[in-house]
Amino acid sequence: MQAFEVSAPHAFAVGDQPEPQAAPGEVVIDVAYAGICGSDMHIIHGDNAFVRFPRITGHEFAGVISAVSDGVDPARVGERVCIDPVVSCGRCYPCRIGRPNVCSAMQVIGVHRNGGFAEQVNVPASNAHRLPDDLDLDAAALVEPYSIAANVLSRMGPQPGDRLLIIGAGVIGLTLLQMARAIGLEEITVTDILDERLASARELGAGHTINGRSEDLEQAVLNATDGEGIPLIADAACIPAMLPAMLRMACPAGRIGLLGFSPTPSDLIQLEVIKKELTLVGSRLNNRKFPEVIEHIAAGRLDPKALISHRIALAEMPGAIDLLENHPEQARKVLVKISS
Ligand code: MN
Repeated sequence: MQAFEVSAPHAFAVGDQPEPQAAPGEVVIDVAYAGICGSDMHIIHGDNAFVRFPRITGHEFAGVISAVSDGVDPARVGERVCIDPVVSCGRCYPCRIGRPNVCSAMQVIGVHRNGGFAEQVNVPASNAHRLPDDLDLDAAALVEPYSIAANVLSRMGPQPGDRLLIIGAGVIGLTLLQMARAIGLEEITVTDILDERLASARELGAGHTINGRSEDLEQAVLNATDGEGIPLIADAACIPAMLPAMLRMACPAGRIGLLGFSPTPSDLIQLEVIKKELTLVGSRLNNRKFPEVIEHIAAGRLDPKALISHRIALAEMPGAIDLLENHPEQARKVLVKISS
């Protein structure tokens, strides 16, 4: 079968690979579509500490079950599915308290084990979520990025009527915007430094956008809230140096959701956290958010196709990586069509 493999940092190619087999409890997926994510770029750069090379990457994908192992209902062959990449052990402390997305022995599909930039991939049967008949496989490949948004929002405890500030209008910022609207938040501000991205945010329903390069972000936020600050701040830009500004922009009792994976320290002032009793939460991957995301898409409350800017073939992946590397402002989600 054909697959996109990263053999070492900065070394990748599309080529022939052995066909995967379903181990006990697993199914084989014929992949239809897979999305390219910023974290795939980190793997290619060699700055993901978890990945072991060589690796077939890709953790955002959907397809059709083509084979099952013993112990999996054979009726699942032919089922249209999308794949939750979080494979957890079920025994460690976080698994026991219902937090499998930070499992101590986690195996992320496309990072620790082979992923979806391939004609076929084997995954645990329980990670393959059945799709409603009218949910298209291209849209279903975007369930994973929405699950990131759903997870950080649930960690932040939104209350009805809360204002939300989203920092960064890349794909994750835009999934956050759509997901926040889907769960009923109405006053959403998005900031970025690229006007093209802010235009996307307005198109998708941001009430207010702020270009952090040409405007003073903190002042704009304080002006817009009569000096009070904002209760919900989600960081989809993942720039550690912005954390102090987030503390200042948050209102008392505010909640700040962090998604960045940077090892760079941030200057955090305890007084800011304590006097406003702020909550800072980390959010990693997703904690069983696939069913609710699938439901929102099926009900038309999320619009995955609005996030797709490019549709390419597997063989075109090296060129797409070049585009994402050098012209990120020209791309939203790049979707790889593998079969259909
Ligand atoms: Mn992703």
